[in-house]
Amino acid sequence: MAKQYYSSRNLKFLLYETHDAEELLQYERFAHMDKETMDMMLDTAQQIGDTHLYPHLKSMDHDEPEAKNGAVTVHPKIGPWFKEMGEGGWLSVNAPLDSGGMQAPTILESCFSFIFQAANNGCYPFVGLTKGSANLIESFGSQELKDEFLPKMYAGKYTGTMCLTEPDAGSSLSDMKSSATPQNDGSYKIKGQKIFITAGDHQHADNVIHLLLARIDGAPAGTKGISLFVVPKLREEDGKMVPNDIIAASIFHKMGQKSAPACHMVMGEKDNCVGYLVGQPNKGLTYMFQMMNEARIMVGVTGVSIASAAYYSALEYANERPQGRRLNEKDPLKPPTMIINHPDVKRMLLMQKAVIEGSLSLVLECAKYHDLSHTTTGDEQNKYALLLDLLTPIAKTFPCEYGIASVSNALQVFGGYGYTTDFELEQFYRDIRITTIYEGTTGIQSLDLLGRKVTQANGKSIQYLRSMIGATTEEAKTYEDLKRYADQLDTEVQRMGQVTSHLLQFALKGDNERFLADANLYMDLFSIITVGWQWLKQAVVAKRELITNNPQGSELDFYESKLHTMKYWFHYEMPKTQGLATRLMDDEVLTITDKTEIFA
Ligand SMILES: Cc1cc2nc3c(=O)[nH]c(=O)nc-3n(C[C@H](O)[C@H](O)[C@H](O)COP(=O)(O)OP(=O)(O)OC[C@H]3O[C@@H](n4cnc5c(N)ncnc54)[C@H](O)[C@@H]3O)c2cc1C
Repeated sequence: MAKQYYSSRNLKFLLYETHDAEELLQYERFAHMDKETMDMMLDTAQQIGDTHLYPHLKSMDHDEPEAKNGAVTVHPKIGPWFKEMGEGGWLSVNAPLDSGGMQAPTILESCFSFIFQAANNGCYPFVGLTKGSANLIESFGSQELKDEFLPKMYAGKYTGTMCLTEPDAGSSLSDMKSSATPQNDGSYKIKGQKIFITAGDHQHADNVIHLLLARIDGAPAGTKGISLFVVPKLREEDGKMVPNDIIAASIFHKMGQKSAPACHMVMGEKDNCVGYLVGQPNKGLTYMFQMMNEARIMVGVTGVSIASAAYYSALEYANERPQGRRLNEKDPLKPPTMIINHPDVKRMLLMQKAVIEGSLSLVLECAKYHDLSHTTTGDEQNKYALLLDLLTPIAKTFPCEYGIASVSNALQVFGGYGYTTDFELEQFYRDIRITTIYEGTTGIQSLDLLGRKVTQANGKSIQYLRSMIGATTEEAKTYEDLKRYADQLDTEVQRMGQVTSHLLQFALKGDNERFLADANLYMDLFSIITVGWQWLKQAVVAKRELITNNPQGSELDFYESKLHTMKYWFHYEMPKTQGLATRLMDDEVLTITDKTEIFA
């Protein structure tokens, strides 16, 4: 039997009790779904995790992909699993019904993806990228492109990629150089290089479909001149599939997530790489943002999934490892106690639990906003779209940055064994490290949050968020023992408003460098408060349940543990906002200077 890598009870608590996924079933878009189907899918996802994914976690880390003569070979077990993903409908889970998809809510899809990635995070990019690139074709592609590629992508016969990064264009995509030259038949000849392309090539699919950004000859400089193309590995010519002059010239040897190769793709070396335009010329980056925003939340899910797998290993170990005696025990002849009885080990475990359950709640909140922004209309729709936009950089960053700290604590619980390859912890620590880098580094997400999202729509997004948090604190105040936490959260939100106003003064003066210099710290401040909101929200649900339904046994323990962990967040993590706010309003500027001697 596979080891525990997530808590099914917690996932269902968040999905149904905290975020009320069933509420979505009232909308026509999801009316064909019911709770029984959702539960069945969650159970099946776990079976797939237990049988196809978790057992190969270590060997996929050990047996790395290889590149030879322009072809990449990956772990043999990825093939059967991906086939199962296609045949089981997991690749088209949120595709429209009329495209043969399941049209399931994103909040449910996020739960599957969490289970799969907690079981084995490294091979999930094959699924995430195929779904994301198919969604892009679905949203913006011509009928011809849809007919040619989507059925095979959904069936798991083709996989997809996103090809953005170039050797000189990583965070700054406006500098990309790959070119597209129009041909008489309406297609384009593509030339250039892309680096770090995940799942750029492998042996387990009939074709690899690259969603690739390039500049049409003569297009404007910067982001306004970028177009989106479908560039298949093989294209049809005279009824036969022939190579399309896009090859994986090499792969990068990575620190973690080894099962998914990061490929260096070269296009058009023989001047024979054909690409098909998606949508309008020069709108490529706008289209790609759909995939990037979805992928950003999915990377948040990756962070929390890995942290979850690490936590359950650490919890098991802490309950089984005897070492030392309790601090009040003076008798050296007494048998050693289990390490879970040491307050510092409990603190490390509580930190992990608080980060994991807080992060998961946050990504599901975002997923629900995504669903609501596709089901509601008018002002309501605008509200959910703005909230999703505002919280996306946080949902990408917090589960990954704090996830790294969480996995580090899990490894620490193992002591010396955590550093050895006898256990999975060292792998989790390596695997999770990428999550704060790809899909926009933490630096870039922080600029996005403070520089764009906080001020977007004349500050309306922030007003909506404040009213969402306000609704939670109002409800929390109806319970005597939650009142102090509700008051604390109100105070935090107010102080964050002061910090934001302080920083905006610099933006108003046109000093963007000063405005954004500490955006990373602002992200931290914003995240700790946002996750505090998610914890209070969970505590309200738990409190209500304890009062109204008087649960017993393991259910009583479950709800009480929610209150305990909420308190951990407010007593251990929330006070850190004070230091962050102090720094963010500090007049001393240390990072804006041309003096390189300071690093001497
Ligand atoms: C394993 C892996 C898989 C990947 N998969 C894909 C993929 O499938 N498709 C794809 O297109 N790309 C992929 N990438 C690329 C990834 O998205 C980029 O590595 C990432 O966006 C950062 O770009 P860069 O590596 O060029 O770093 P740089 O942009 O050079 O950044 C270096 C450092 O400078 C900071 N920095 C840069 N600009 C600024 C700024 N304006 N303000 C403040 N700080 C800044 C960054 O935050 C970072 O800390 C992958 C990368 C890896 C390692």
